Amino acid sequence: MTEPYDLFVIGAGSGGTRAARIAASHGARVAIAEDFRYGGTCVIRGCVPKKLLVLSSRLRDEFERAPAYGWHVEETRFDWARLRDAKEQEITRLEGIYRRNLENAGVVLFNDRAVIDSVDSVMLQSSGDLVAARRILIATGGWPYKPPIPGADLTISSNEIFDLAELPGAMVIEGGGYIGVEFACMMQRMGVSVTLIYRGNKILRGFDDDLRDHVSEAMAAAGITIRLHCQITSVEGRPGDLTVHCDDGSSLRAGQVMLATGRIPNSRGIGLEKVGVECDYRGAIKVSADSRTSVENIWAVGDVTDRLALTPIAIREGHAFADTVFGNKPWVCDHHDVPAAVFATPEIGTVGLSEAQAREQGYDVLIFRSRFRPMTNVLCEEPERMLMKLVVDKATDRVLGVHICGPDAGEIVQMAGIAIKMKATKAQFDDTVALHPSAAEELVTMREPVA
Ligand code: NDP
Repeated sequence: MTEPYDLFVIGAGSGGTRAARIAASHGARVAIAEDFRYGGTCVIRGCVPKKLLVLSSRLRDEFERAPAYGWHVEETRFDWARLRDAKEQEITRLEGIYRRNLENAGVVLFNDRAVIDSVDSVMLQSSGDLVAARRILIATGGWPYKPPIPGADLTISSNEIFDLAELPGAMVIEGGGYIGVEFACMMQRMGVSVTLIYRGNKILRGFDDDLRDHVSEAMAAAGITIRLHCQITSVEGRPGDLTVHCDDGSSLRAGQVMLATGRIPNSRGIGLEKVGVECDYRGAIKVSADSRTSVENIWAVGDVTDRLALTPIAIREGHAFADTVFGNKPWVCDHHDVPAAVFATPEIGTVGLSEAQAREQGYDVLIFRSRFRPMTNVLCEEPERMLMKLVVDKATDRVLGVHICGPDAGEIVQMAGIAIKMKATKAQFDDTVALHPSAAEELVTMREPVA
């Protein structure tokens, strides 16, 4: 074995690369191993390619609105292969940047699967080489979960959808979470007839109820069929010509079936049992607030710990770990009031407590809500409205939650998130002069509570 590294990172996604780079900048000797592509889920088959596809899909709405704004749009035709290949080019570029940033920081890169061999060594699987390390960071992310139904192998997940050879005429998507909703909206706009199957009574469980209703109605208006209280029991046929059977006795035909039924921590087969790293029943590595596992010199960050499965959280957890352990600057990632977006169309942006969560936590709340037609929908007489909602604590006047559904909701909520983090009051929102004409001005002009 070689001289031990100060840190060996397993997994070069958002959390792992940030931790490796920062640890190296603090003077540590760092190595990192990745068995797929540098950048991880977010860059390769998650946030980044997804957003590119969302942007593409929304151009369809722009083409439809364009004539009312004076533009003659002759003919439009969507070319999936061209988009897919352009997306591939971009993520390859980003992957290169990730690698270069690590190399420039002095990190040693391995393109291999690393498995923990002992508390202070990992084995590189293809070569069988053992590498010594004083500390190990597990940042192996998550993996799509597919319910064990007959024919699950005929279905795709978010891992495969980005690289389909061609788009199907019809697609069934199961799951009413982030991924199911985002892909339903984008595929429909790309010309695919989408049926979204969800087991509950309303999609996007955990989000504010007004957002859930608003986006459900908009999705239905866009032509997406949403089937509630329904679960897929089996799939048969072959990709391109599949039959989906549901627990209500119905059957559906589709070219592709996508299961967007959640993600599970990617903790299997990396040697955790061998050294006694404790996991919960879902395989999530148990960690303390500062990302320590149950084993002295092993840490874990990101989706593999199943705290809050969002890229910026993994990045912060990785950064905090590196600053704390190698930079003598201890801090922990705060998992409260994290802004989030669902890149559905219309988009959702949300930060803080939903109305239901606030009430559950015992707050006596005032609700401010506005539904209005954003300017982009006026000339083209598009009836779709935008929703803005504030959840305010009556006792302190503090704004507990901001919830938006409509164009640029994510962009607006990123800024509103600062106010929430600063514990701003409704009076301070009201004291902020409106920026006119904008959609976001509604956030500072709502005066009368609706509840
Ligand atoms: P989610 O947990 O958001 O949603 C999973 C969906 O599948 C839920 O509707 C759930 O139903 C349903 N489901 C779970 N198990 C089953 C089952 N056995 N049979 C039928 N339905 C089932 O997971 P996603 O896969 O959509 O996304 C994973 C995570 O990735 C997200 O939680 C998020 O943290 C992250 N992500 C973030 C994005 C963003 O920031 N924009 C985009 C994409 C992903 P129920 O509600 O009843 O549990």
